[in-house]
Amino acid sequence: MALLPILEVPDPRLREKSTPVEVFDDNLQRLIDDMFETMYKAPGIGLAAIQVGVAKRLLVIDLQQPEEEGGEAKRNPLVFINPELTPEGEEKRLYTEGCLSVPDQYGEVRRPTTIHAKWLDRDGKAHGERIDGMLATCLQHEMDHLEGILFIDHLSRLKRGMLMKKLVKERKLREESSY
Ligand SMILES: [Zn+2]
Repeated sequence: MALLPILEVPDPRLREKSTPVEVFDDNLQRLIDDMFETMYKAPGIGLAAIQVGVAKRLLVIDLQQPEEEGGEAKRNPLVFINPELTPEGEEKRLYTEGCLSVPDQYGEVRRPTTIHAKWLDRDGKAHGERIDGMLATCLQHEMDHLEGILFIDHLSRLKRGMLMKKLVKERKLREESSY
């Protein structure tokens, strides 16, 4: 397995539209494993293939519910290939989102609470499920990446501008302190 570099804004590749996965070969399995390793290391709870420069409709998620006794977080790796989401009902949920491609910045995004998802797993097997809560939010955030959309696009222009300015400033500080 290998760690992959994560693209960050304003990298134009993050705006590309990803195309469906058609071949379920060893290269795909390796990419999935590398994406999990990269996501766990970051650390993050979701990663779309385009975030590591691969414009394929593939995303990995692990909400890693922490163990109550302060032990190791329990891993629950999920793979979604060629996912399709349909909102169910009118209810929306507000959640403070972050993104590995927009490091250390957070903003509140409102998304449908419940969705119906269809996807293929890493073996190409089809699944269909009703999903709500945190997984529904995360899945919709990752799904956006496949269309070249970032969570900051859901914020007001003012909020987005402030957040991007802060990101540039923090990035500059980080670079200066690494000399
Ligand atoms: Zn993201």
